[in-house]
Amino acid sequence: MTMVAPAAYGCRHAGGRPPVSGGPVRTCIGCRQRRAATDLIRLQVDDGYLHVVDRPVPGRSAYLCPSQACLERAVQRRAFARTLRQDVRLDDGLPVEFREAVKAREAVR
Ligand SMILES: [Zn+2]
Repeated sequence: MTMVAPAAYGCRHAGGRPPVSGGPVRTCIGCRQRRAATDLIRLQVDDGYLHVVDRPVPGRSAYLCPSQACLERAVQRRAFARTLRQDVRLDDGLPVEFREAVKAREAVR
């Protein structure tokens, strides 16, 4: 008789998961709506500055709807620093990066 590893344990930290099937769900830090992570634009800090990333990099991420209004709201509420738990600087290139990411999103559909 061999030991059977309990391989089927689910993640116990995933409490409060909404009943949406398929893929992870994230909260937009602009409007606080929960959406599929694939619908949101991911932002991460690199060298103290916030950037749009198109593929996951280790570290904390913030998510925004592909909407300029959500970006502005997040900036006004200083939601980035709170979500990412560090000082976040925004450079002039971020709105441009964000707009490009939104455009790229729309082109796929
Ligand atoms: Zn939003």
